[in-house]
Amino acid sequence: MAAFLIDLDGTMYRGIDPIDGAIEWIDTLNAFNVPYLFLTNNSSRTPKQAAAHMNKIGFHVTPDKFYTSAMAAVSTIKAEDPLAKTAAYIGEGGMYEALVEGGFELDYHHPQYFFVGLNREATYSDYSEAARLILNGAKLVGTNNDRILLSEAGANVGNGSIVAMLEYCTSKVAIKIGKPYSPIFIGALKKLKVNADEVFMVGDNLETDIAGATRAGLKSIFIDSGVHHLEDIADLGIQPTYYCKNVLDIATLF
Ligand SMILES: [Mg+2]
Repeated sequence: MAAFLIDLDGTMYRGIDPIDGAIEWIDTLNAFNVPYLFLTNNSSRTPKQAAAHMNKIGFHVTPDKFYTSAMAAVSTIKAEDPLAKTAAYIGEGGMYEALVEGGFELDYHHPQYFFVGLNREATYSDYSEAARLILNGAKLVGTNNDRILLSEAGANVGNGSIVAMLEYCTSKVAIKIGKPYSPIFIGALKKLKVNADEVFMVGDNLETDIAGATRAGLKSIFIDSGVHHLEDIADLGIQPTYYCKNVLDIATLF
């Protein structure tokens, strides 16, 4: 049976507008008990907040269907270093909840790991504290490496740019988790309990969703409703397994 990992922004909705066909497609997956997870680089929202955001704009989804870069970051570190115990972080509710649920104790004196997720209120002194803890031995973990975060005003500084700043400042290399890196895909497969060859990554971004899926050994469905379009496949040289004009077309593939 096919299973799906599904991007959110540009694939399911744009801000507060659902993308044509997205609500109906998710209703169909629910009705036929098709396994799926929403896979998002956004570490800010908790799964409960992410589900509430979607339900408010007309979807019918539950928090257990979300797998965020914050959750992937914590489960990746726990899998690689089962004795990991202490962490500090920059982030919002989603990062905090993932750390606590993953059994980490918060420690701002000598943490083993420093997790960096987006916090839109973080300050120069927060980043400087992070740099000091990393220079003192905390391993730097970036939930995602998005350069920019689009908003109504245009481009905002993305979490990847903050991670890059801390790498530059400390001369350390961050452990990278979110799309296009493989840890978030590996974590999602584990949570879905499916094999890679049954899974399709559905997304609008060739460089993160599609290239990341290929790198992790998954098939992909590129949806032409967001950041990239048909002509970008050739321009970027990133080939999805399937191309669909919108999510409704996915039904024609199976
Ligand atoms: Mg997207």
